[in-house]
Amino acid sequence: MPFAEITGHEQPISLLQASVRNGRLAHAYLFHGEARIGKWMTAVRLVQALNCERPSHIDNSDSCGHCRSCLQIVARTHPDCFVIEPDPESATPQIKIEQVREIEQQFIYRPLIGERKICLIDEADRLTIGAANALLKTLEEPPGHGLFILVTSRPHALPITIRSRCQALRFTALARTQVEAAVILKRELPPADAHFLAVLADGRIGEALETNVAEVQARQKECLTLVKPQSLTSSTAILAAAETLAKSDRGEETLTWLTRWIRDLVILIVGGDQDQILHLDQLTDLRQYAQRAHIDLLLTLLNDIERIHQQAARHLNMQMALETTLLRLREALGLVPTRVSA
Ligand SMILES: [Zn+2]
Repeated sequence: MPFAEITGHEQPISLLQASVRNGRLAHAYLFHGEARIGKWMTAVRLVQALNCERPSHIDNSDSCGHCRSCLQIVARTHPDCFVIEPDPESATPQIKIEQVREIEQQFIYRPLIGERKICLIDEADRLTIGAANALLKTLEEPPGHGLFILVTSRPHALPITIRSRCQALRFTALARTQVEAAVILKRELPPADAHFLAVLADGRIGEALETNVAEVQARQKECLTLVKPQSLTSSTAILAAAETLAKSDRGEETLTWLTRWIRDLVILIVGGDQDQILHLDQLTDLRQYAQRAHIDLLLTLLNDIERIHQQAARHLNMQMALETTLLRLREALGLVPTRVSA
């Protein structure tokens, strides 16, 4: 499917299309920017534009999306196009030197159908040192018919030697309204669900287009029961919930939902943009909390939850972290008297 179907990224796309039109493409590109915002899709569209049998655009800079070539590229069966990516099954996914060597072998020969042999490398920051060195050799003396597109959300994890051989194109996260519109159009979801997914995805359109709404909303509901006054005013309920959540390994996820909920509350208290609120269907409850919540305590709590997330990979007592968070939350919400701090 052609460039026109990509939401956003007008700048990098128009630059690429101009290069296709002028026949001035670089030998290697580095598409970088946050995860799941459309870098990979743009790379695939570029490969299609270069190989399409029925270019739809008047000047051959866009593809039809339907011809044999376009379909083969999506199915990864096009004889001149190759994809390298880390093994998703692996615990520590890496791109190994053998994968790069295989492509080197292919690139010795001229393309079979099109004008170029093209290699797409996803999560290029996961190249091992050996693989990166092998790739560097190819990038230093690229065959005239070769085109490499490296895609990454962590460009600085790539050796500078590789980065300096690529033309870098930066992709930026999309606006919430753009994501919302795309979700309504492509998934045909009601506007309320589209808004929910767009706020949740925070500019990551790939995520908004794939997230299972019902599943996420079920999780959200669980978190909402935690912040009901009757749950928060009972210490027994808090301790029990913390234990259950920690034991079922849902501690971090719960903290993420709590963060989102507290953020909504803060937006209401400071009179921020209500369009940024995730729990729009909870406005009545949130407004009630907003009247007696202590914003300074809420902001400190948000900071501390962030710190818990950073420590969660190490040895952290999640059950205790959840207990403390919920006990502090009820204070911040004004449900129990604030403890006098020293
Ligand atoms: Zn085509």
